[in-house]
Amino acid sequence: MKAHDGMYIGGEWRPASGQDTIAVVNPADEQVIDHVPAGTAEDVDAAVRAARAAFPGWAATPPAERAARIAALRDVLAARKDEIAETVTAELGSPLPLSQMVHAGVPVLVAGSYAELAASYSFEEKLGNSTVLLEPVGVVGAITPWNYPLHQIVAKVAPALAAGCTVVLKPAEDTPLTAQLFAEATQEAGLPAGVFNLVTGIGTVAGQALAEHEDVDLVSFTGSTAVGKQIGATAGAAVKRLALELGGKSANVILPGADLAKAVNVGVANVMSNSGQTCSAWTRMLVDAERYEEAVSLAATAVAKYVPGERVGPVVNAKQQARVRGYIEKGIEEGARLVAGGPEAPKDQGYYVSPTVFADVTPEMTIAQEEIFGPVLSILRYEDVDDALRIANDTVYGLAGAVWGADDEEAVAFARRMDTGQVDINGGRFNPLAPFGGYKQSGVGRELGPHGLSEYLQTKSLQF
Ligand code: NAD
Repeated sequence: MKAHDGMYIGGEWRPASGQDTIAVVNPADEQVIDHVPAGTAEDVDAAVRAARAAFPGWAATPPAERAARIAALRDVLAARKDEIAETVTAELGSPLPLSQMVHAGVPVLVAGSYAELAASYSFEEKLGNSTVLLEPVGVVGAITPWNYPLHQIVAKVAPALAAGCTVVLKPAEDTPLTAQLFAEATQEAGLPAGVFNLVTGIGTVAGQALAEHEDVDLVSFTGSTAVGKQIGATAGAAVKRLALELGGKSANVILPGADLAKAVNVGVANVMSNSGQTCSAWTRMLVDAERYEEAVSLAATAVAKYVPGERVGPVVNAKQQARVRGYIEKGIEEGARLVAGGPEAPKDQGYYVSPTVFADVTPEMTIAQEEIFGPVLSILRYEDVDDALRIANDTVYGLAGAVWGADDEEAVAFARRMDTGQVDINGGRFNPLAPFGGYKQSGVGRELGPHGLSEYLQTKSLQF
């Protein structure tokens, strides 16, 4: 798609207030593909005003009608899925099949789930002599990252719209074209003017202005823990509602009775997918001492299939590439055993990182504690099940994880003891209705399904 040179505010593309632009770079070949305007506090203010003006009308729109508009949005996203996939590939660098299946496919599922939920959700409940009304919170400021550019947008905008909220979106600097395409889709779907607004721009300028804006009622942020803490402090000081989806360092726990080959293969695929840029990726694989070396060699074989430029794309930009390579060097320095990959860039052009596997990783190592956000897997050894649990929980994060056991019962018993928000049991399948979000420093609040919808509602109780 061709980039717009304005902001989408009040149902139309308006000129940006300033002259600055952001270059959009294709990470696979380092070429500038387009430019988008860098929004200012003035643009943010105009967008918030438009969202505020549209709020009473949208909040009063019957849920069935809101549902119909969200269903229309889902249909536009489905109809334009090839263009979405190509746009994501161009600005994120993900291989086209992944863009088609995941980056373009999942948002259609999620938008569809909210079209259904808006129509079926009970926005009123009886509690003794009270009637509790579940009302929209108001104007939402949504700030999203680049790793799943469209999914992160839809996971905020669809439930907000279902709840009756209006939205101003500030997408990531690296992936604004997908966000512009989404804005086009909201227009095509017939959303009333001002219900959805887009301001592209730099995080510390447009993002901060949005988080600080006094007429924003709820800030929903997905991104790094460092920025999340800052936004949390701002929102707290202003007594705004807040949702934070932050980082992760999830464990893939392979219990002694589990199918080792399956658990290792699925685990490697999970980490390498999207070049490791998945906040919920199971970047720490935990294996018992007896089967440890077998797991290491299975992982080395599995990772060889991830050829840079073919099955695995680049990381998003030069800074991320340097950051991930720095972590690989740190792993070697701290004494981890390099089994595959390494810090050298595998290709001359593009921000590629070699798919990397470390063995003999111990829990206190930097690569076992910090989020790398690249195609790097650490394999840790545990002595017994209690030791595995201690290692799994030994991080400031708690976003996701996986457990493989001899049967589901054994795996569930372990999962109950994990300090984390989502656990896949014996290779469980993705469920767009399951609440997604973090324990500990992985965040506040939940996205997806009815739990995600309730984030955008506030209660009013009437007593009779
Ligand atoms: P980031 O925190 O740098 O940026 C995220 C968004 O915040 C971007 O839109 C950015 O422009 C904006 N931003 C930056 N500084 C800001 C400020 N001071 N005020 C307001 N907005 C600001 O993160 P990133 O590099 O885009 O994404 C990578 C990180 O995001 C990883 O740590 C990853 O784990 C996390 N992440 C978490 C989830 C989740 O659901 N938990 C999902 C995806 C990514």
